This record gives sequence, structure tokens and C-alpha cells, in this order.
Amino acid sequence: MDQLLSGSVAVITGGSSGNGRAIARTFAEEGADIVVADIRDAPREGGTPTHEVIAAETGSEATFVKCDVTETDDLEASVEAAEEFGGVDIMINNAGIFRGENFLEVSEDDYDQLMDINVKGVFFGAQAAAKRMVANGGGSIINLSSVAGLEGTGEYVTYCTSKGAVRLMTYALADALGSEGIRVNSIHPGVIETMMTTDDVEIVGTEEGEMYEQMIPSQRFGTPQDVANAALFLASDLADYVNGESLVLDGGLTNTG
Ligand code: NAP
Repeated sequence: MDQLLSGSVAVITGGSSGNGRAIARTFAEEGADIVVADIRDAPREGGTPTHEVIAAETGSEATFVKCDVTETDDLEASVEAAEEFGGVDIMINNAGIFRGENFLEVSEDDYDQLMDINVKGVFFGAQAAAKRMVANGGGSIINLSSVAGLEGTGEYVTYCTSKGAVRLMTYALADALGSEGIRVNSIHPGVIETMMTTDDVEIVGTEEGEMYEQMIPSQRFGTPQDVANAALFLASDLADYVNGESLVLDGGLTNTG
């Protein structure tokens, strides 16, 4: 079968770890050259840096750019790095952080840090890529939101605020950029097994997590590969008429009783 992303170039923020790493690897296996844009090159979960794995094990090219998505210059540099491979066609705004919290105790600094990464980083990541895509005649932008961008949860109000913003930003961007041949979609994972859910929130591998897992119609948590497969569909020509869509990826939990 032909590769789905043959000849494409993708920039993936947060591409060193977790979901971003799986997306990078999968896209490379499908023929895309990859710019991994992250504040670290060592994966959180351990192992060889993503760009090195891609170069060694796939037929695609890859490079790493040290990028803090709260810095617009870093985002511009990440998109610029894609020029080496022919220019960005696919932008994955994936970098994000999670924090559980007591709403009454959230400080302004806490709020600013999370919103800067989860919202400002997506906004200016999309802008940096779109400038190049407009000049190039089109592209695909995929933003990582969450089921927390669809439903409110009191234990992490700031995270919900950020992911809800990403959902509506995606709709607005689809409207703003559709006539330029740029599709903009979001992915809304439930619990995916990454360091975010084993360490930051500690749900995977806990007793509470096991009970939660049984409530999921598909009876399991998601994997980074599930996220990568969804992103692959949205990035590819198979999704040519999918625009402004929020793809829920949670084993059926959100939309069932
Ligand atoms: P992860 O395993 O923690 O990986 C995130 C990567 O992004 C890490 O390499 C991290 O580096 C990097 N990063 C953090 N802040 C950054 C910044 N300012 N600039 C550039 N890179 C930065 O998380 P994940 O689970 O893969 O999550 C990826 C995305 O999926 C996030 O947007 C998250 O909200 C979303 N999501 C995840 C789940 C889930 O269950 N895992 C569910 C719904 C949505 P450091 O480790 O050094 O910070």
C-alpha cells in the first residue's frame, strides 16, 4: 500500500515524548519527514530521542529543534527548520501540560504557565505554520485538545479552560484558513497511557484507574499509538473533507451513559 504521507513534512511540538513521539514515528513510517520541536530531546519515558529513532529505523528524515512553545521565536524556528525538507505541510500542536488543582488555590503564575503552554503555544504554533502553508497553497493543522475540552471537571479547572479554548480556536481557525486550503482539526483523547497519566495525574496503574477503565465502553485506556492513528487519518488525504472537526478518542466514554 502507498504511504499515506509520502512527500509531506510535519512539525510536531512535544514530539520527544508520549503522544507526540508516537505521532512522529507513525508519520515517518508513512513517508513524512519530521521536525521534532520540544523543550527536551530525551523522551520522558526513556529511550532514544525521537529524531534519532526515525533516522535509524524509517526511511524518513528527522531533525530536533529545541522549542519552548511559549516562545514565538522558537515556534518560528521550528517551522523554519522544516524548510530543509521542503517546508511544513502538517503542523501538530501537541505540547501540553496537565495539573490537578484546588480551584480556590490556583495562583496567577500557575494559571499563566498552563495557559501559555496549552493555549498560547497552540495559537502561535498554528500561526507560524499557517504563514508558510498559505504561501505554499495549503496544509493540515492538528491541535491536541482533550475530553477535558468538552466537559468540565472541578479537579482541574485550568486544564479544562485551556483545552476548551483549543477546541473553539480550532473551529475559528478552520473558518479563517479553509479558503487557503488549510484544514484545522482537533483531537480529544480520554486517558492515554503516557507519563502524563502515570506520573502527573497518577491514574494509570492505580485502583481508581482500574475502576475508571471498566466504565469505558472499549474497556481499556488509550495508547499513544491510538492518538497517532487518529492524527494520521486527519493529516492524510483520506480526511480531505474533514475540517473544523473535534475527533473524540476515548473508547466511547464521553458519548455514552
Ligand atoms: P507528555 O508525555 O508529558 O509529553 C509532552 C511533551 O511535551 C514532553 O516531552 C514535554 O517535555 C513537552 N513539553 C512540555 N512543555 C513544553 C513546552 N513549553 N514546549 C515544548 N514542549 C513542551 O504528555 P502527553 O500525554 O504525550 O500529552 C501530549 C498532549 O496530549 C498534551 O497536549 C496533552 O494535554 C494531550 N492529552 C493527553 C492525554 C493523556 O491522557 N495522556 C489526554 C488528553 C490530552 P517536559 O516533560 O520536559 O515538560
